Amino acid sequence: MSDTQDLTEEERRHKERTRKHKAVVDAKIAAAKVDKGLVLVLTGNGKGKSSSAFGMVARTLGYGRTAAVFQFIKGKEDVGERAFLSRQPGVTWENCGEGFTWETQDLRRDIATARAGWEKAKQALADPNVSLVVLDELTYLVNYRYLSLDEVLPPIRNRPEMQHVVITGRAAHADLVELADTVSAIRDEKHAFRAGVRAQAGIDL
Ligand code: ATP
Ligand code: MG
Repeated sequence: MSDTQDLTEEERRHKERTRKHKAVVDAKIAAAKVDKGLVLVLTGNGKGKSSSAFGMVARTLGYGRTAAVFQFIKGKEDVGERAFLSRQPGVTWENCGEGFTWETQDLRRDIATARAGWEKAKQALADPNVSLVVLDELTYLVNYRYLSLDEVLPPIRNRPEMQHVVITGRAAHADLVELADTVSAIRDEKHAFRAGVRAQAGIDL
């Protein structure tokens, strides 16, 4: 007996609709044949940028590949991902920031710290053995002009062919957005902090 024989009219229409949908999706998947190293920019005011980037570190490790994480700006509070991921084989994790400008209150030191971090990041961006480079909160270094776009863009552009790069931070510069293959702007609809809830371990850090 055919499996469509005892279907109701609604079930039959659903089957036909989903069959057509699957054909469209399958055709799109079949058309995407390119493999290449990607640049991703995760920006916007909503929560979820850095945690998404660190999630891709976990995905990378799942394939036995390697990742290098550079955390710019933030040096004060440690995130849970660092405690876990930096202990895994195949991960290097550099904390190259000393907190936000309003915490350090020392412009010259902030710029020197940012530059030293960028020098290390450039090494990872030149290393074909590194599958994924995370440049966490890089957008601020560009926006504060601690680093010029002429310094930042070429090492990203000239990286090894299959290396992926994830850049996070609010207000990504238009040139970073243009360089990227994938850009997500996370919108801030609601955040518990505004209801007086402090940062929660495992969620916010
Ligand atoms: P996460 O690391 O949780 O993915 P993020 O990278 O998108 O967050 P950041 O701007 O780097 O966001 O801020 C990190 C910290 O600030 C986290 O504790 C996060 O919960 C909090 N945060 C993020 N967005 C907001 C917001 N819109 N209002 C208040 N706090 C926020
Ligand atoms: Mg972040």
